[in-house]
Amino acid sequence: MSGMMNVTGSKGKSRYDGPRRRMVETVADNGVKDLRVLHALDTIPRHLLVPEALWDQAYKNTSIPIGENQTISQPEIVAAMSEALELKGDELVLEVGTGSGYQAAVLSRLADRVISIERIPKLAAKARSALDRLGVTNVVVHLGDGSQGRPNDGPFDAIIVTAGGPEIPKPLLEQLAPGGRLVGPFGPREAQSLIRIRRTGDGEFKKEVLGKCRFVDLIGQHGWGG
Ligand code: SAH
Repeated sequence: MSGMMNVTGSKGKSRYDGPRRRMVETVADNGVKDLRVLHALDTIPRHLLVPEALWDQAYKNTSIPIGENQTISQPEIVAAMSEALELKGDELVLEVGTGSGYQAAVLSRLADRVISIERIPKLAAKARSALDRLGVTNVVVHLGDGSQGRPNDGPFDAIIVTAGGPEIPKPLLEQLAPGGRLVGPFGPREAQSLIRIRRTGDGEFKKEVLGKCRFVDLIGQHGWGG
């Protein structure tokens, strides 16, 4: 009977199950309450989205280098930003900054469809194949300058920016659907704020500062200059 799949379709235990469970507990202890978000974190094998040499660090609550001078964000930040988007399951989400594809994989469990944009070809290609390997079918990765959004694919119910820009890119605000939420790090490089914008039914934008953070640069027409 060895090698047989169990009834849940899972291929059995992995040495990463324990570390992943502890990562989710840490994220919950640090204030993330949305059970859908915590469950999503519990279902994504984060180690498969970082270089193999760093698999043993994959479930620490830290950011990790993924090549090209970029990083996969800290699990706690991924979770907090996902929670701040207030997703119920039927949304179209835009992500700016695919990186490893981890945040996109988490969002794939929380929304209907995810469109993610990455400016570095190597990372976009790697993320695409990693997401394929994970069996994620509702995420599309595009190569390009995400600070301009994807006007023809919007409006978006939620937009997440995972690289830090000097200010909130105007095109992204324009592509936010009424009732939609945009979450991202903005402000001076050394003192970014995690910001949430809510677009009201009558087209107004309400801004909240959720905390302090430090992300890699958003580089592009509406970022730090391309
Ligand atoms: N969400 C990612 C975090 C990656 S770090 C993850 O889960 O791993 C931020 C990423 O944003 C980097 O890969 C960087 O190349 C990318 N980036 C920076 N500026 C961008 C832009 N204007 N458009 C698209 N991607 C951008």
